[in-house]
Amino acid sequence: SAVKRTALKLGMIPADGIGKEVLPAAQRVLEALGSAIPKTTFVPLQAGWEEFNRNGKALPDETVRVLKEECDAAMFGSVSSPSHKVEGYSSPIVALRKHLDLYANVRPVSSVPIPGQPGPTCDMVIVRENTECLYIKKEEIKTNADGSKIALATRQITSHASSRIGKMAFEIALRRGQEREAARNSGKDVWWKGEPKVTIVHKSNVLSITDGLFRESVRAIREGTDKYNGVKMEEQLVDSMVYRMFREPEIFDVAVAPNLYGDIISDGAAALVGSLGLVPSINAGDDFVMGEPVHGSAPDIEGKNIANPIASIRSAALLLSSLGYTDSAAKINAAVDAVLVEGQYLTPDLGGKASTTDVTEAILKRL
Ligand code: ATP
Ligand code: MG
Repeated sequence: SAVKRTALKLGMIPADGIGKEVLPAAQRVLEALGSAIPKTTFVPLQAGWEEFNRNGKALPDETVRVLKEECDAAMFGSVSSPSHKVEGYSSPIVALRKHLDLYANVRPVSSVPIPGQPGPTCDMVIVRENTECLYIKKEEIKTNADGSKIALATRQITSHASSRIGKMAFEIALRRGQEREAARNSGKDVWWKGEPKVTIVHKSNVLSITDGLFRESVRAIREGTDKYNGVKMEEQLVDSMVYRMFREPEIFDVAVAPNLYGDIISDGAAALVGSLGLVPSINAGDDFVMGEPVHGSAPDIEGKNIANPIASIRSAALLLSSLGYTDSAAKINAAVDAVLVEGQYLTPDLGGKASTTDVTEAILKRL
């Protein structure tokens, strides 16, 4: 929500691996905005696998306390997870989402607009439910009389969680529509011509009770008010969604999905735009928001100053936008797009030779 503040306090949690290289890049970009945003204080905070090995806790109580009591929002880098089960360790990002009630994972996936081309092939936002579905991790295994095994998982869908994620999707669609309108009015070429649109992703032809409840709860959000009359609503079965997304990604605006489908389609969508190093996200609740690049800690390139900082920088823009500072967010995104389109400063994941620092500085120069 857009609350006008005089000062902003951001928790900065680089955590592990390349998180320690890309999060400082995002901070430099935020600092460069100067007085365009409220005076911002950055509070360095610990979490992660490395922190667990230092002090025995992946998510120190102090980190949670400072975030809850002192910070307006936060940025998270990336966390390494051990490939084997380690006693006492569990993912701090999953715990943070729970502590701060960050029930939505919002992932804009857009290809870079190349001048002279018909238009971007992909500019969509995936809104993934973050708290339930199969991620409640209620699994059990039983042995039948004949010795064979049966494994079961409980999938939880609630009207509460489905409604609030649905509301978030419609709010995002509404805002995107307004932003496009404003851009059009200021003479910019906006390739999306129609009304904003929300696509509900589900599989209620098979899972009529669980996905049925998700679908109905999201539909009821639009039907319960006049506010979203200008937002189109359609549905896609998740398998068809994957197919359509790869065939014609340009037909999607905002897609809303239960946790697991959302996870799968967003990694798929990231593949459409060239590199994991480009895709940002925010974890959002009603009271708090945390920016986080979609990629992981990338141990294979850690410490070499070659990680692409753009996913983190775009996450910072997304964070600003969700706090109401849309002009500053647009400025960052324009600078990023300019650097990508120009193609002179690209990290190796995009076929270039530039370092993390080079790319960051090129973006800073265009701000
Ligand atoms: P994790 O377990 O933390 O997810 P991972 O080994 O799965 O680690 P990811 O971070 O998910 O690694 O990355 C997958 C691949 O994409 C790796 O080869 C990584 O180097 C590359 N990659 C991810 N993020 C970036 C980035 N920001 N810049 C460049 N390459 C990246
Ligand atoms: Mg990974």
